[in-house]
Amino acid sequence: MRVLERLDALYAIGGGPGANRLGGTPAEDEAHELAAGWMREGGLEVEVDPAGNLFGRLVGRRPELPEVWTGSHLDSVPNGGRFDGALGVVGGLEAVERLGERERTLVVIAFRDEEGCTGPGCRGSRALCSRRLEPMPAAFLELHVEQGPRLAEAGAPLGVVTGIAATARGQVVFEGREGHAGTTPMAGRDDALVAAAEFVLQLRDAAAAVDGAVATVGRLTVEPGASNVIPARVALSVDLRAPDDDRVEQVSALVPAELSRGRAVAMSPGLRSALVDELNARGLAAVELASGAGHDAGVLAAAGVPTAMLFVRSLNGGISHSPDELTAPEDVELAVEVLTGALDRLASSVDD
Ligand SMILES: [Zn+2]
Repeated sequence: MRVLERLDALYAIGGGPGANRLGGTPAEDEAHELAAGWMREGGLEVEVDPAGNLFGRLVGRRPELPEVWTGSHLDSVPNGGRFDGALGVVGGLEAVERLGERERTLVVIAFRDEEGCTGPGCRGSRALCSRRLEPMPAAFLELHVEQGPRLAEAGAPLGVVTGIAATARGQVVFEGREGHAGTTPMAGRDDALVAAAEFVLQLRDAAAAVDGAVATVGRLTVEPGASNVIPARVALSVDLRAPDDDRVEQVSALVPAELSRGRAVAMSPGLRSALVDELNARGLAAVELASGAGHDAGVLAAAGVPTAMLFVRSLNGGISHSPDELTAPEDVELAVEVLTGALDRLASSVDD
């Protein structure tokens, strides 16, 4: 299957283990050049915008109409997976080539630096939306691996994304009092790390009590950081996510610090139902789920572009950002078929 061969070719760039195409590096450039070559082979017109985003256009019979876009990103995290991002680009190209000329122009896009390993992420799609580098399209559909276990648990190969999760992130500092580990009685201590540890457990319980919410403390700095000194100061990171803003607020009420918030972004009901109809037409259950991870689709949706996402089942427990990331070939083929059908509906309809 050509999609899988192309994923292998992208995976080989940058050296292993795993995908190593960090945004802004020569490896990302090489991936974009490779994809541009495939676009030209498929008869698409290739264009690169000032932010470095790659566009492959299959011009429609009515090129004056707003376009229909699909795509994702070609950059990866260090030692990343084979499918994250890349599947949306090569799967999107496959779908557009299968369709051929339609009423509306079909465009496959590879956005730059989605992962943001050295910055805020979604650099290419943010640049495109904030500077209006292109006329905005009638629709954007992003195909992506789920990067989680829910579709596999539901026994469903594909899922339709309802929205991108709301987020709240920040740092909490606990202050205590330094002291000698041997001479300070337990009763007299003010241990910053003990307070921080209690907070981490409370945060876990608070998130577990709110449906769909998740909370992560992933970084902890302990000062002075000596084995024989009572910790005087602890700084820890907080990352909260939930399907909507209200649920993030419920959990963040527990956090004694300013958090920077990212509002939830809803996917377009019309485009979601185009995907659901394609699933139903194949006798597949239409599992709908929120995305806990951010995506280029969230940036375009927030900028007012009608947007939807098709998720493909992740295997191996849903692991992602790892060489163990896995999706079955038959699920990839099914995803391309559903994407093709949905793009056909969008690119063939001219009522606007
Ligand atoms: Zn991705």
